[in-house]
This record gives sequence, C-alpha cells and structure tokens, in this order.
Amino acid sequence: MDFEEFRTRGKEMVDYIADYLKTVERRPVYPLVEPGYLRPLIPDSAPQQPDSFEDLMKDVERVIMPGVTHWQSPNFHAYFAAATSFPGLLGDMLSGAIGCIGFSWAASPACTELETVMLDWLGKMLNLPEEFLAGTNGVGGGVIQGTASESTLVALLAARKRIVTHMQAKSPDLEEAMILSKLVAYTSEQSHSSVERAGLIAAVKMRKLPTDEKFSLRGEVLKQAVEEDKALGLIPFYICATLGTTSSCAFDNIMELGPICNSENIWMHIDAAYAGSAFICPEFRDLLNGVEFSDSFNFNPHKWLLVNFDCSAFWVKKRSELVGTFKMDPLYLKHDHQDSGLITDYRHWQIPLGRRFRSLKMWFVFRLYGVKGLQEHIRKQVDLAHEFESLVRQDDQFEIVGEVVVGLVCFRLKGSNELNEKLLKGINKMRKIHIVPCELREKYVLRFAICARTCESKHIQYAWQNIKEIATDVQAGRQ
Ligand SMILES: *Cc1c(COP(=O)(O)O)cnc(C)c1O
Repeated sequence: MDFEEFRTRGKEMVDYIADYLKTVERRPVYPLVEPGYLRPLIPDSAPQQPDSFEDLMKDVERVIMPGVTHWQSPNFHAYFAAATSFPGLLGDMLSGAIGCIGFSWAASPACTELETVMLDWLGKMLNLPEEFLAGTNGVGGGVIQGTASESTLVALLAARKRIVTHMQAKSPDLEEAMILSKLVAYTSEQSHSSVERAGLIAAVKMRKLPTDEKFSLRGEVLKQAVEEDKALGLIPFYICATLGTTSSCAFDNIMELGPICNSENIWMHIDAAYAGSAFICPEFRDLLNGVEFSDSFNFNPHKWLLVNFDCSAFWVKKRSELVGTFKMDPLYLKHDHQDSGLITDYRHWQIPLGRRFRSLKMWFVFRLYGVKGLQEHIRKQVDLAHEFESLVRQDDQFEIVGEVVVGLVCFRLKGSNELNEKLLKGINKMRKIHIVPCELREKYVLRFAICARTCESKHIQYAWQNIKEIATDVQAGRQ
C-alpha cells in the first residue's frame, strides 16, 4: 500500500467506521456464534501473495462482525462502559502514525511531556490534591497505565519496596525474604478480582475484609484486622480501597480508612476504575473526599471519560517511591537528560518498557469536548441510570439492590436466585440488549450499566420493555 492508496483506503475506512457506529444499534448486540466459529471461515495460514483491500473488508463483515459483541451499541448494558469518541479515535490514529515508543524522555520528548501535562489537567479536573500533580517541580505526578489491574499491581509493588526499605532501615540485619513472608495487604471482599491477583503476582498475603450493609469497607473493620495481624507478628503494609466497586458500584469509606493507613504506615491505593470519571462533576466530587490520605489513586478514562482503550490514569504522591521500585538503567537506555528534575522517564513508572503515545487521545478529547462537554456526558448517563431505576421501582415485582449513585443499577425480580438466573439467560438469549449478573450477599442480581455514548432515553425504555416481557414469561414458566 503506497501513500496514494493509503489516502483512499483511509477515507474509506473512516466512512466504514462512521457507518458502523451510526447503525450499530440495528445489529444484534450479542453475537450468535459457538466457540471455534472463526477458524473454518478463514484459511489455515497467511496468504503467500497479498490479498486485496476489497476482499479484506468483505471478510470484516463475513468473518468478524458476526462474532462481535457490540460494546458501542446503545443496547449494550453489560460490565461497565468502554469509552470511545470521535476525537479519541482521531487522536489514536495520529498516535499510530507517529508510532514512537516513549519509554524515556529522549525516546520521544513530546510523548513524555504531553502525558505529564495531561495527567495534571485531568488531576485538576478531579480536584486532586496538589501533591499528586507534577506541576513544575512536584514530587508527585501521573502516568498512563494500560489498565486498573496494572495500577493496583504497580502500587502494591511500590508499597512492598517501601516497607522493606523502611524495615531494613530500622533493623539492618533483617533479611528481605523474612520481611516479605510477614507482609499482609488488605482489600474488601467486594473489590475487583485484579486486586487478589496482584497479591498472587507479588506473592504477598491479601486479606479480604468484610463490608457493611452498603458493601462499603469501614475503618473499624480495617483497624481490627490490623491489630489482629500485628498481634500475629505480621506486617500490614498495603490496602486497595475501591470507589465504585464492579459488582454494585459501592464506595469504601476512605475518610475512615485513610487516617488508619497513615498512622500505621500502610500504603493506601484507591481503585476508582469506573466511578472516577464522575468526580469531574462538582456534585460527585464529595465521593473522592479522603483521597488526600492516599499514596496512589487510579481511574480509567477508558471506561467512562470518552478516551478509548487503553488509558488508565494513575497518580502517586511521591514519584520517588515508584521510580525507586522499578529503576533499571542499562547503557542502551541512558540519555543526556536523565533524572534532571523535570525530566521523567516513564519506563520507571510501569512494568513494561515500551509505551504508546496515549496522551494524544486524551488531549484530543479534552480539547474537543472541554470540561463542560465531559461533565454533560457524565450527567446525561447518570440521569439515564436514574430513569431506569425509577422504572424498576415503579414495578413491585422488582427490587433495587444497593444504591444508584452514578451509572449502574443493580436490580432483581423479588424471588429466588433461580428465577433471576432464568431472567438473565432469557434477556441475553433474545440478544436485543446485553447485561451481566453479579452476586451480592448470596443474591443473584442483574446489573444494568449505562454504557454507549449514544444511549438515550428511548434505549432505556426499550430495554425495560424487553426485561418486563421476559420477566412475565419467566414467571409464567415459559422460559
Ligand atoms: C473495571 C474495573 C477494574 C479492571 O479494570 P482494567 O482496567 O480492565 O484492569 C478494576 N477495578 C474496578 C473497580 C473496575 O470496575
């Protein structure tokens, strides 16, 4: 493909994308395929001679689309939103074209510098405490990680390093292996599975603490666990608190947890993967109160802030604690401006070496929407969630579980788990809308998330009508 052909095909591709997104709601939101469906549809090995672009695009419709779950359909209400927007797509296109690998400042200065400033812009949108911003000579700062899971792990590894250094400073003959074997980290039983996994990867005990009736982890519970563990000779060193849990969008009480962590020298990481985007609206910012106690904070603009995947924003109060954990300096990565105050080498802030120019898509989105446009997006989606909630509340066959705080509604038919399981299966089998369940205190619960940017009131009404019809069938024993 030469320059001229790229111009032509590029324009065709933009048309294809615009058509796809414009008409995606006409496609069944969930695919009707069996595992292994794809292999027989394409050759066993790559073609020796080049194929034509036309043939390839025909196969996109023949091979790919039938097996796509359409996350951008306004009838998609599963998991949480996966952000996309036209400015985000365009920014990503340019990032692909520049094609730099920005592991150090010298590897592409704009890639590093724009990222630092974008994380400051975003931190200011959330009104994060000053200490988290890189500013001009800050000790904190932000970085784009691939996912919230990585952020949790990176924070855990930094915390592990910090406690080992601290213990060895106090007692120089303590062996690292000895300290590691005594470490204990905490999280709530409602936190994301990636937190438990971070414990597995870092080979430290991860204790899951119980939550209150609102699925929130409270200070007293942590305090008691810390006392118990210290009495056993263990060393509490890390907690991952969640703002907006995956199951029910519950919020841990970081105002209570924070001071305990600070006085016990426990690294507090906050995972606000989904709900974090809402904090750009002043009316939701209270939910973030207590962040000032934390050592690191993370949320995913790629979930709800219109910046397409991947873009997980991660801030630390003390960048030295991250860099101190991950720093490696082989000669081929050294450059003249290393570590000179303002200069950031992001390879020390993350697990991989390579990194894409992801801040471009943030820049495009922030400038072309403006903070006001982003706030409107959040508010509209929260309103849609409340619209769905009120439909559920008006029907006394159903109940709401937990609280609708932002864009997720947990609900169920009053009745057995089996009944609700049938309802969920029936809904997804129809393929008109797509949702997933969760389990809350042994109850099988349906989650309805407001996802696509293009979701409107009519889609909420459509979804509810669908759910009601299937519920009627299920209760009559017809499903
Ligand atoms: C979605 C979610 C995650 C996982 O996000 P990734 O970026 O895919 O790792 C982690 N924590 C919470 C609370 C989430 O909702």
